[in-house]
Amino acid sequence: MADLATLVSGIAAEMQAMPHRGAVADYIPELAKVSADHFGLVVIDADGQEHSAGDADTRFSIQSVSKLFALVEALNRDPDAVWRRVGREPSGSAFNSIVQLEAEGGRPRNPFINAGALAVTDLLTSDDDPRAGVGAILRLVRSLAGDDSIATDGAVAYSEAATGHRNAALAHFMKAHGVVRGSVEACLSTYFHQCAIAMSCRQLARAGRFLAHGGIDPASGRTITSPERTRRINALMLTCGHYDASGEFAFRVGLPAKSGVGGGILAIAPGRASIAVWSPGLSPQGNSLLGTLALERLAHAMGWSVFNPDA
Ligand code: GLU
Repeated sequence: MADLATLVSGIAAEMQAMPHRGAVADYIPELAKVSADHFGLVVIDADGQEHSAGDADTRFSIQSVSKLFALVEALNRDPDAVWRRVGREPSGSAFNSIVQLEAEGGRPRNPFINAGALAVTDLLTSDDDPRAGVGAILRLVRSLAGDDSIATDGAVAYSEAATGHRNAALAHFMKAHGVVRGSVEACLSTYFHQCAIAMSCRQLARAGRFLAHGGIDPASGRTITSPERTRRINALMLTCGHYDASGEFAFRVGLPAKSGVGGGILAIAPGRASIAVWSPGLSPQGNSLLGTLALERLAHAMGWSVFNPDA
């Protein structure tokens, strides 16, 4: 098996030299300002050793990776409420698809497409206290990453709110079907602010460790969620974490992972490692192009795959 430290720096060097890096998301104007040249990778192994390379400590917009933390928070509060509103099937459709939601009566396929994430966020949102939802998600990621400086980037949140008409359409449609129960405005505001949370690969990899270790955060020994729920969240990440490229990601990488249009991906090698990668250029489906390739290289070299009985 490859030496992890050498592997991580070798992969970063290879990715930094890649000429084709994908297109940075520009439908959120603030994200279009980020250079496609960035690349960061952090792997935290089961012993807590951190192997990092490139822009490992540069903060970026975690975007849809936040949907994972919102889901953990909502499931810990009331799992039945979550599963009454959203399904657990891969969508096979774009992350912001409207047509599937209408065809299926306003019930989103899963918690990781935008519609499903909005329904989950609605569960965390209080009409009386518009900051409560994002506050809960921030508290969770800060405690997991052991870093109270993690915050929402206000410029990104504002930029998305100013242009987020598709998300507004999804939320209003779900309100019409009773899937979103509270104020649509409060739900959207919470969602835009959670997506605008800025974290580095190191912070993200630390925040994901509990998913590699049966729901227990090895850094603190704290139980974040139950072993059974952890397995199920990992199953959802594997089947739905990359939108309509989830099958391709499972085929190439074989690990549960959640991507965001900021170019970040959090991937979990159960029992082995928590991995965060960042490269802002995206594939046409909205997943980091080089981030995916880097994870493919890493998983292959380490033999890490949920489909590998020896891993
Ligand atoms: N904030 C983004 C949106 O709602 C999240 C999408 C993503 O990261 O995939 O469009």
